[in-house]
Amino acid sequence: MTIFDKFQPLAAARAELEQSCDNFFNIVMEEIVSGTEAVVNGRSMILAGSNNYLGLSFDPDCIDAACDAARRQGTGTTGSRMANGTFSGHVALEHELADFFNRRGTIVYSTGYVANLAMLSTLVGPGEIILLDADCHASIYDGCRMGGAEVHRFRHNDPQDLEKRLRRLSKRNTNILVVVEGLYSMLGDRAPLAEIVAVKEKYGAYLLVDEAHSLGVLGAGGRGLAEEAGVEKGVDFVVGTFSKSLGAIGGFCASDHPELDLVRYASRPYVFTASSSPSVIASTRTALKIIQERSELRQRLWDNADRLYHYLQELGFAMGPEPSPIVAVRLEDKAEGFALWSGLIEQGVYVNLVLPPATPDGNCLLRSSVSAAHTPEQIERICEAFTAVRQSTAMARTA
Ligand code: PMP
Repeated sequence: MTIFDKFQPLAAARAELEQSCDNFFNIVMEEIVSGTEAVVNGRSMILAGSNNYLGLSFDPDCIDAACDAARRQGTGTTGSRMANGTFSGHVALEHELADFFNRRGTIVYSTGYVANLAMLSTLVGPGEIILLDADCHASIYDGCRMGGAEVHRFRHNDPQDLEKRLRRLSKRNTNILVVVEGLYSMLGDRAPLAEIVAVKEKYGAYLLVDEAHSLGVLGAGGRGLAEEAGVEKGVDFVVGTFSKSLGAIGGFCASDHPELDLVRYASRPYVFTASSSPSVIASTRTALKIIQERSELRQRLWDNADRLYHYLQELGFAMGPEPSPIVAVRLEDKAEGFALWSGLIEQGVYVNLVLPPATPDGNCLLRSSVSAAHTPEQIERICEAFTAVRQSTAMARTA
């Protein structure tokens, strides 16, 4: 017996996938032409599977800020925030995020994954309770596991189910943290946040909202779903990432609770990893300003989202529940998923093929995402590519 024997089921699953779809594990972005175009495996491709919602990864001001910071402060901090890794940029970004969210404080982390790991493993521990939406991201589940709190799930986007569980669990007389996302990453649906806030207040629980996909995307000021739903005051902890609308990498938690600052010192994912590079912090600070100053980017993003969602709906695809920059086509048949995904690549369009268990309902998903940086012509090309692959897979089925 070797240490690798337990990977045999994985090897078999991978071999089967490679047979159905030879390039599934072999997508390399060889040349990044812009925020929406790349050369992938030798072929020019429109990128319709990134989370670059506002297209800021190629914003000239963000790039200048990153280059300038790298020249002045070096390529990495080579240290944890707790040791030598807190540079003036980290502190400035924490203040700017706190101002942006109108919160007393913010902690910046090295990634969004680390932010969830840190917050969930530290805020609640043994003897306390986490109640999370069943469709929450893996980083939330991992943080829950790391902290040792008792974890309960409620049905996705179901405030009645949340209330039923809260009614029972609140009798235990311990702290309860409710966790939801703003926009869910697979189907692009919003949490019913006003109802969730009302329920958590009724039972005296705390609420953490992961606005990873909604920061810069929802709300007149781009602050996410809590802003759009008018319930920011009801959210105790806002978590988010720099790797989507801010076009970089990193994560944060913002809160009005004065004790937030103490969480830093108690959380291993803050203390035991290196802090973000100066270039990343600098581009993120510039992107955060752009989110506030250029609301037309949000408008363009939503125009693109509406166009692609309604087009695919009219083509007859089973879509996610509502228009959103995450445009998900639900497919019951894996073989159809492979055929459509490969066909889109042939057509020069890259989208994500998501397979169970990563999907919420056990089916497969073709998950496209649009960006403010997509031109109307690119959106039309994506629509045409879907039309072509739908026709050819329908023909293959009837042949
Ligand atoms: N939360 C959610 C809801 C996400 O979708 C993701 C990433 N897909 C993360 C957190 C992690 O973010 P990051 O990529 O910054 O680690």
